Amino acid sequence: MQSNKKNWGVVGGGVLGMKVAMQLAKEGYKVTLYESAPVIGGLASAWQIDEVVWDKFYHVILLSDSYTRDLIKEIGLEDKARWVETKTGFYTGGKLYSMSNSFEFLKFPPLSIIDKLRLGFTIFYASKIRDWKKLEKVYVADWLKKLSGKNTFKKMWLPLLRSKLGEHYTDTSAAFIWATIQRMYAARNSGLKKEMFGYIDGGYATILQAFEKRLIDLGVEIKTGARLQKLKSGQNSIDSSFDGGFQASHDRVILTIPSAFVPGSVDQMPETEQLKHKGIRYLGVVCTSVLMDKPISPYYVTNITDEGAPFTGVIEMTALVDKDQLGGRHLIYLPKYVAPNDPIFDEADEVIEKRFLDAIFQMYPHISKEHIVAVKTARAKNVFALSTIGYSEHLPPKKSAVPGVYVVNSAHITNGTLNVNESLKLAGDAVNEILNTN
Ligand SMILES: Cc1cc2nc3c(=O)[nH]c(=O)nc-3n(C[C@H](O)[C@H](O)[C@H](O)COP(=O)(O)OP(=O)(O)OC[C@H]3O[C@@H](n4cnc5c(N)ncnc54)[C@H](O)[C@@H]3O)c2cc1C
Repeated sequence: MQSNKKNWGVVGGGVLGMKVAMQLAKEGYKVTLYESAPVIGGLASAWQIDEVVWDKFYHVILLSDSYTRDLIKEIGLEDKARWVETKTGFYTGGKLYSMSNSFEFLKFPPLSIIDKLRLGFTIFYASKIRDWKKLEKVYVADWLKKLSGKNTFKKMWLPLLRSKLGEHYTDTSAAFIWATIQRMYAARNSGLKKEMFGYIDGGYATILQAFEKRLIDLGVEIKTGARLQKLKSGQNSIDSSFDGGFQASHDRVILTIPSAFVPGSVDQMPETEQLKHKGIRYLGVVCTSVLMDKPISPYYVTNITDEGAPFTGVIEMTALVDKDQLGGRHLIYLPKYVAPNDPIFDEADEVIEKRFLDAIFQMYPHISKEHIVAVKTARAKNVFALSTIGYSEHLPPKKSAVPGVYVVNSAHITNGTLNVNESLKLAGDAVNEILNTN
C-alpha cells in the first residue's frame, strides 16, 4: 500500500522540523531529518553549564499552549509537567517592583491613575481584536501612543518594545504587540486568572529526548551533523549535498531552516522568490546564562524600563523551576535581542559577560562576584522575523516554484509570537496543506 508513497527529506531539526517529520511519518511516508548541529532541537536544545544541564535559551510552557501540551502527552511526559504560579517584576527608576496582580499594578509609581486606566484599556482592547491583518498596516508605536497616551507609551511600552526589538520597534507593526498580548491573555484566561507557567522535569532536554525517540519509533531516520549545502531538483528526484560530502536523494524536500539560508541552498529558486526570503528581517539574541548560589529575586521575568541596561530583561529560571532540578543552584538568563549584524556578535563572551554581570551587581546589591558559580553565553542570529508593515502580504510561498521543494519556517508565523506552541501548530497545518495540494 505504501509502495508509491513519496520519500521525504526534512532539513532543519528544530522543533518545527521534528514535528513536520513526525506528521509525515504518521502518514506513512519514509522520512529523513537532517540537522546541521550535533544534536537536534535547535533553539530549544539544552546545554551544560557547570554541572547543570538545562535549556540554552530560557523556555516556559503556558497552560494555553495546547499543541505543546498535546506533544508532551504523545511522547509520554504528561506526568513530568510542573505548573507553578509565577511573579513578574519591573525594574524602573533604579528600583524593583512586583507587578504580579491588579493591586500591585494600581500601586505602580511611574504611571498616574489615568495612565494606568489607559494601559489597562489598551491591553483589554487588544485582547478582543480578531482582525489582526488591519494591525499590520499601522506602526506599533503610533498605535500604542494613540490608545495608551504618550506618557504611558514612553514609560511603559517603549522600554518593553525596545527589550524585544531594540531600535527596530520603529519598523514594527501593531500586529506584534497584538500577538504578544493575545498570548499572555490566553495564559491568564486558561481557567485560572493567575499566571501559571510550566516546565517538564529536566527541561527541554527531557522533551527532546522523548520526541527523538518517538520519531525513531515512527521510522524517521535522523542525521545530525548534516548541514545542507545545496539541493537540486531534477526530473525524478531532488538531490541534496551536505557538509562532509555526503549526498541524498528524495522525492520531496521541506526546508525548515531560517529564510536567511534558503536562497543560498536552492540555486534554482526564481529571483522573485529568493527576494521574498531575503526580505525577511530577522532579529537574533545574545543570551547569557548565570548560575548562582543564591536567588536574585522572586520574579520569573523582570522587565527593565530604565534605559542603559546592557540586557533587555532578567529571567530567573529558578523562580519557576525547583532548584533541585539545577543541583541546588539558581539560574538566571540575561537576553539581549539584536539584529544579526549587531556588533555584539563580534564581541568575546568574556567581554559581554563582564558587562552583563556588572549591571547585575549594580541592580541587585545583595549579589556579588562570590555568588556566581558559572557563566555561559549563547548566541543565535536568526531567531524571529520582524513583523514589518504588511508583513503577511510579502511572505515567501511554502510551496516553492522549484518542483518538489517546500519551505516552512518560523517566518510563516503571521498571527502569533515565536514560541514552541506556534512552531508546532505551524508544522502541523503546513504538512496538511502541503499533502492536500501535493
Ligand atoms: C531566547 C529565547 C527564548 C525563548 N523562549 C521560549 C519560551 O519561553 N517558550 C516557548 O514556547 N518558546 C520559546 N522560544 C522559541 C522557541 O525556541 C522556538 O519557537 C522554536 O525553538 C523554533 O523552532 P524552529 O524549528 O522553527 O527553529 P530552530 O530551532 O532555529 O531550528 C532550525 C534548525 O535548522 C538547523 N539548520 C540551519 N541551517 C541548516 C542547514 N543548512 N542544514 C541543516 N540544518 C540546518 C539549525 O541548526 C536548527 O536546529 C524562545 C526562543 C529563544 C531564542
